[in-house]
Amino acid sequence: MKYFSLNHKAPEVSFQDAVVKGLAPDKGLYFPKEIHKLPTSFFETIDTLDHVTIAYEAIKQFVGDEIPEKDLKEILKDVLSFDFPIVSVEENISALELYHGPTMAFKDVGARFMARCLGYFNKQKDIKEDVTVLVATSGDTGGAVASGFLGVDGVEVVILYPSGKVSDIQEKQLTTLGQNITALEVNGVFDDCQDMVKKAFLDEDLKTKHKLTSANSINIARWLPQMFYFFFAYKALKRNNKKLVFSVPSGNYGNICAGMMAQRLGLPIHHFVTGTNANNIVPEYLKTGTYTTKSSVQTISNAMDVGAPSNFIRIEELHHHDFNALKTNLSGYSYTDEQTIEAINHLKDKHNYIADPHGAIGYLSLKKYLETTYDAQGVFLETAHPIKFLPVLPKAIKESITMPPQIEAIIDREKHSLKISNYDQLKTYLLQ
Ligand SMILES: *Cc1c(COP(=O)(O)O)cnc(C)c1O
Repeated sequence: MKYFSLNHKAPEVSFQDAVVKGLAPDKGLYFPKEIHKLPTSFFETIDTLDHVTIAYEAIKQFVGDEIPEKDLKEILKDVLSFDFPIVSVEENISALELYHGPTMAFKDVGARFMARCLGYFNKQKDIKEDVTVLVATSGDTGGAVASGFLGVDGVEVVILYPSGKVSDIQEKQLTTLGQNITALEVNGVFDDCQDMVKKAFLDEDLKTKHKLTSANSINIARWLPQMFYFFFAYKALKRNNKKLVFSVPSGNYGNICAGMMAQRLGLPIHHFVTGTNANNIVPEYLKTGTYTTKSSVQTISNAMDVGAPSNFIRIEELHHHDFNALKTNLSGYSYTDEQTIEAINHLKDKHNYIADPHGAIGYLSLKKYLETTYDAQGVFLETAHPIKFLPVLPKAIKESITMPPQIEAIIDREKHSLKISNYDQLKTYLLQ
């Protein structure tokens, strides 16, 4: 499979090159040149297939012959070694829990897939060439990447995170592993981290010294495996025979965009809903037709504190840059922190379901959309385990959460980070 840059000013590349480069040299995001629908027989028999087979069918055209079937299936088996439960919350509404992996957020799947692909490519080479993975995190990416890449041969990982703006557990997950993982604590917001990472990719001095790649969802190997969740949910809910609506709490819009890719492969999804916090760029765009990025605002759903969603361009590409086509397929709503807490309490009191702030926004947005839609089965994505957001949860809910073993294992470890405030300090670090 060939990938082209969405800025259209860079050469087409292979899957491997797109993964190793992260971003195209013209700063564009890579996008697959062709997208082929899966056969109807696949969807008819999906309930008889296991997760690895489903994932393989979904991703194989995007990898092409660059990883042989046997190896790709091995990678997928390893990546998907935990559950993706669908939990019924109320009539016609289910939660798709994507937080049962090692760092308890949905990003584990993408991070693990990318790490294993890079590991595979490195093994094929006679001359080892180290790759440096540079990643900005608003909270959960850092932990997922640290865990996914820990100990991978020939890969150094540098994580940039905004100081004081990630939760304690998120910070522990990305600052305590050591080995090939380094955490840089940035005096700024997430967008500052993301800007520094983007700048580093285009810096000629760095390019001569390092093979730099990104492990944010701009990287196709992080982004595309997120399609799997939507297939798994479809498999679980198919027998209901209702119109399927997915509500995806969104920040950089990689996850929801992967869902739209699954839809392009033929997965019968009726509609998408995006839920956001005060960082409401996309809902505003859907309302007004004007796309205006902003500086990000801090909220209790911190993984969505993104003021310039990097994957939105891929969503536009998938809808042929047609605003009306996009509006038909996507609705968007935004909620305040107060409304988010209210929803968390409501879900616990009325439905005995414990949601995290992101999932709660997904729930609210879904409810809003379903007010006007009949005969639909709604699914909101529970993108992280509530324990990752303990300080902001109401007291009664805090007390009813038990500590999962994945968190127990890191909570008392010592934090190691290097503080930086500007791009020059990042560059100096990378050059030393
Ligand atoms: C990363 C993240 C999101 C946002 O996902 P995008 O793909 O960036 O839109 C939502 N919720 C949680 C818990 C996350 O970690």
